[in-house]
Amino acid sequence: MASAPSKNPKKKSEKKPLLPLKRRQSLRLHLGGPSFFGNLVTTVLIFLLLMSAYSLVAGLAQPSNSIPLSTVAADVAAGKISAITVNGNALSLTYADGAHKTSHKDPASGLPETLATYGVTPAELAKVAITIQGQSGFQFWFLTLAPIILPILFIAFLFWFLSRQVRGAGMQAFSFGQSKARITDPADSTQRVTFADVAGAREAKEELFEIVDFLKSPKKFLDIGARIPKGIILMGAPGTGKTLLARAVAGEAGVPFFSISGSEFVEMFVGVGASRVRDLFQLAKKAAPAIIFVDEIDAVGRVRGSGVGGGNDEREQTLNQILVEMDGFEPTEKVVVMAATNRPDVLDPALLRPGRFDRRVTIDLPDRRDREEILRIHARKKPFGPDVDLAVIAERTPGFSGAELYSLMNEGAILAARENRKEITQYDLIRSIEKVMLGPERKSHLLSKKEKELTAYHEAGHALVSSILPNADPVHKISIISRGRAAGYTLKLPFEDKKMQSRKQFLDDIAATLGGYVAEEMLFDDVTTGPSNDLMVITALARDMVVRYGMSEKMGPIAFGERQLGNEPYSEHVAAQIDAEVTRIIEEAKVRAMHVISTHRGALDAIARELVEKETIERDNFEKILIANGITPKKREEEGILIAPSANGIV
Ligand code: ADP
Ligand code: MG
Ligand code: ZN
Repeated sequence: MASAPSKNPKKKSEKKPLLPLKRRQSLRLHLGGPSFFGNLVTTVLIFLLLMSAYSLVAGLAQPSNSIPLSTVAADVAAGKISAITVNGNALSLTYADGAHKTSHKDPASGLPETLATYGVTPAELAKVAITIQGQSGFQFWFLTLAPIILPILFIAFLFWFLSRQVRGAGMQAFSFGQSKARITDPADSTQRVTFADVAGAREAKEELFEIVDFLKSPKKFLDIGARIPKGIILMGAPGTGKTLLARAVAGEAGVPFFSISGSEFVEMFVGVGASRVRDLFQLAKKAAPAIIFVDEIDAVGRVRGSGVGGGNDEREQTLNQILVEMDGFEPTEKVVVMAATNRPDVLDPALLRPGRFDRRVTIDLPDRRDREEILRIHARKKPFGPDVDLAVIAERTPGFSGAELYSLMNEGAILAARENRKEITQYDLIRSIEKVMLGPERKSHLLSKKEKELTAYHEAGHALVSSILPNADPVHKISIISRGRAAGYTLKLPFEDKKMQSRKQFLDDIAATLGGYVAEEMLFDDVTTGPSNDLMVITALARDMVVRYGMSEKMGPIAFGERQLGNEPYSEHVAAQIDAEVTRIIEEAKVRAMHVISTHRGALDAIARELVEKETIERDNFEKILIANGITPKKREEEGILIAPSANGIV
């Protein structure tokens, strides 16, 4: 993904290969092997080949010009045969006239006795030169052993083949103790990531510089008796660049990077995870200085013993092993363990104790400046038209993570390529924002006239309530073109990146989200399944207000936490009170939304009419409709940046 070549690949590592080669190869070999049927065909073919080889060699002993023993006796008596070579039970006959024939004798008796029983006299036999020959060594052994060895070989082969299949299927049944870690060699410049590839995250980088410094010159720190943190845990929302940052630390320090995901530890066999951990730490210590990176550590590092009906033994053992390994580090060990999670709240406190993952680095979602920087990083090596202004894109993408920005740039390039253009334009990028946010447009998803009207009123409801309530975000765009799972959408953009939200903002947000439902109910005297997602969102939000943020006056400033089976931090009675508060918040928001819509009914109709006709309304047009209906649009802050250039026609 972000394997853009770093700007300073000058520090060429002159390290010895850090691992025995064989081990390195065994790590990920079974990826992309031949198909199951391909393998099966090969097996069968090899078996057939072996079989035919056998019958060929065996066949040598039984050539076809064989004659019965009685004829042999008669020919001997008649003096036609000059020599007989006996090889085991096979007789090779040479005739006086030069012909060669073969025959077989009874294995139980010798040739003279056999011929005597056919009436050959000793005198007649004396005229024949008889040579007794042992079977050739190879032939003898092959013929004797092949029937025993071939099936054994075949079974062994089948076994090996099946074990390969099983491994390919991910069970790892025959290699479960191995660490499965992916290793990035510092000398591999194509995989190298440095801090230059990570935009924003200034505080995180500062923290991590210290680690880089230590890994680069551990002696400096050890000489002065400094103890270097063993464990650093990176916390942040998905896609904020935690994995990227960890790789960048290794890249900056020029040390090998052992990375494994928490979920990979957890296999079907108890004890496998623990043995993998042991293996991984051993490898890393051998390669020290090195970094071990455990991605998504919450998969193994959840609070122990909280599961209902007994914990997950496997997970606990793996976690214990990680703790044991970290505790067992010598103070001089030059291995740093990094971990990443987007659920720091579920981590076992034992992981976060001093001496373990005691350094915590939080990575926030990027703010506007950081977003612009991230966009610039992913704009490298992409051809842009002259109208592209990444600052505008950054402005329009509050709440986007680094990963989403990356995917936005990629979508833009795909759009340009699909239309056979050589340059990416601003319009491509703007369309990509919505694609990343809401999923692709579904133009084929045709609405009936009634559905179209209903969707129009629903979206108009959202937009109107957002525009009237003072603490709701201003509307940027409304559309009834379905996207992803939504039939229509109203884009609201906050004026600035919000780090904190207030109770008033939440309440207005809930009312605006209910605006769609309320408009449907008031106009059509009925509700549809359309707003089900809206309802889920507001219910969760209202609940959070009560149990997490202490925003309910009745319940007071208490964080109640989750109530689950087996983990009941508060009583049934309190639970009922919480439910009542959630209901009250939503009811009150609904009343406010209804009030807005009935007071500004004219505006609602105008917006809905425009939507039915044009399907999409951009901010400029939307504000004109508001003004025409006596509503003052919300002030635009940072005038000039917030507006996308010539947004007409953007859907
Ligand atoms: P996480 O591990 O936090 O879920 P990743 O590190 O896997 O996120 O990020 C996914 C991708 O998003 C990266 O490979 C990179 O392309 C992009 N990305 C995320 N954050 C940044 C950033 N701060 N700067 C540049 N690219 C970023
Ligand atoms: Mg990650
Ligand atoms: Zn809605």
